[in-house]
Amino acid sequence: MMNHPEPTHEHDPGPLDADVLIVGAGVTGIHQLYLAREAGFSVRLLEAGDGVGGTWYWNRYPGCRFDSESYTYAYLFSKELFDEWEWREQFAEQPETERYLNHVVDRFDLRRHMRFDARVTSATFDEPTATWTVVTDDGTKSRSRYLIAATGVLSVPFYPDVPGRADFRGQSMHTGRWPAAPVDLTAKRVAVIGTGSSGVQIAPVIVDEVASLTVYQRSANWCTPLNNAPITSDEQKQLRVGFEAMSEVLNTSTAGFLHPANDRSAFDDTEEERQAFFETMWRSPGFSKLSSNYADVLFDDGANAEWCEFITRKIRGIVQDPGTADKLIPKDHGFGEKRPPFVTGYYEMFNDPKVSLVDLKQTPIERITERGIETADGVQEFDVIVWATGFDFGTGALLRMGVRGRDGLALVDHWAEGPTTFLGVQTTGFPNFFFPGGPHAAAGNNPRYNGDQVEFITRALASLRDDGFDTIEVGPEAEESWTAMVDRGAGQSPFGEASYFFGTNIPGKPRKYLLNSGGRPKLFKEIAKVEANDYQAFRRTRTSDGGNRGQR
Ligand code: NAP
Repeated sequence: MMNHPEPTHEHDPGPLDADVLIVGAGVTGIHQLYLAREAGFSVRLLEAGDGVGGTWYWNRYPGCRFDSESYTYAYLFSKELFDEWEWREQFAEQPETERYLNHVVDRFDLRRHMRFDARVTSATFDEPTATWTVVTDDGTKSRSRYLIAATGVLSVPFYPDVPGRADFRGQSMHTGRWPAAPVDLTAKRVAVIGTGSSGVQIAPVIVDEVASLTVYQRSANWCTPLNNAPITSDEQKQLRVGFEAMSEVLNTSTAGFLHPANDRSAFDDTEEERQAFFETMWRSPGFSKLSSNYADVLFDDGANAEWCEFITRKIRGIVQDPGTADKLIPKDHGFGEKRPPFVTGYYEMFNDPKVSLVDLKQTPIERITERGIETADGVQEFDVIVWATGFDFGTGALLRMGVRGRDGLALVDHWAEGPTTFLGVQTTGFPNFFFPGGPHAAAGNNPRYNGDQVEFITRALASLRDDGFDTIEVGPEAEESWTAMVDRGAGQSPFGEASYFFGTNIPGKPRKYLLNSGGRPKLFKEIAKVEANDYQAFRRTRTSDGGNRGQR
């Protein structure tokens, strides 16, 4: 346990509540809490919701599920934990994931460090003592040496500014804020606005119970089958036997998946071989359509076009009405330029006579009325409107927390032109503040990247303690170089170019790449470098003895 400092200067804001204060009880926050406590720090965690889960707490809409394989998304820090939790499906549904995260919290006795219904409204760095004071919406203050915001990238739902949204008299829900109480959609006339991963997940799952379902699509997406399946008891056994080997792959692979990379290019194969390979891809699970597809599928226009033509033929083969099929085929972007959704029964659903598709490029929404949605074609009445319209990705939650660093610098001003980070964990001007799982963090199977980050942060804090420091702040060179790497990499492939990955779905948000374009190899390399040369990328000082800065 770290000794709580006894400030000797006049400025004495009182004792610390914890060495490490974490915000957010999602996958990353729970992991960070566990590691920091295991490393001997006193810990606290604040969570805005009234339960554990983060994304898997808020996104409880019907059909919400992983599109990373369950066991590859799960924690790997305890073999016992891995052994005792049997995921039922290759791609688990939200309730199972929420149960799993609750199980982890209870199994490792983490709940006693957590406070729920505690939304952070401000977080202020106190320079003389190098501590953070965090205030929650009920006015409670907490002071800590280190502040770790594990607030996630998809935590702030986005509602488009459509006139009349508040006028609707029926039920209106965002997928990212789905009510905890069951929502009865039986025999209801339902609209789903948005056809990203959330919209295309919920629609086919509710179709059987509703009276009618109208999908409002602004951009068609290249959806391919998730190919989910139950995990058989033999497979369960194999997972346990192969845990070490699987962990090794997951802990070292580029995007944190098990899917093997393909070193062939599309035109290495004959037309016939290519079509057979695409068929294999179509039948393969989840993200393998990206990770195991032809190596040049994102980099060569011809290769991308071939894969898109294959999907086009599939869509036309499934959707009986040619007009509807045509609307469902993207015309404005290639595969991977938007985050590809993985679906079950999505295209098939349009053969049900109670399902219709409104192409918002032809007939945009003009307004929401008391009874429904008005486009140039008139008003269509609904009982329920589902907003599957996405999130203020990457920086949304961090910039709403009232974070102020050195000299009162507001994070919202520091990042006015977009986030600048080192390793996606720290930014200059905000000592002792970390944000794993935030901007520049991941670009693949999120828990694997975010796990790398929380492990790094924990080691960095332990090294501060061991070396007699209590303050850590990234230097400007390291931040500039990492941010430049992210921006450069983002321009090298069309991946996510047409998507919220650049923040462009939010009016007024600067266009900046929000993922880690260097992937895990770059993260591993930089972390190794930082640790090999004694954290020189950071300024490490000692403050708690009254400002005696033992700078390194
Ligand atoms: P999203 O991908 O940002 O999709 C938002 C949808 O809303 C898009 O179709 C967008 O159209 C549409 N939209 C936005 N503003 C609109 C407007 N004014 N009028 C009409 N339509 C509008 O959000 P999401 O589907 O919630 O997914 C976000 C991310 O969450 C995913 O990419 C994924 O990373 C994660 N997620 C994962 C899973 C999973 O399977 N594990 C499931 C759900 C979500 P445009 O494309 O034209 O902008």
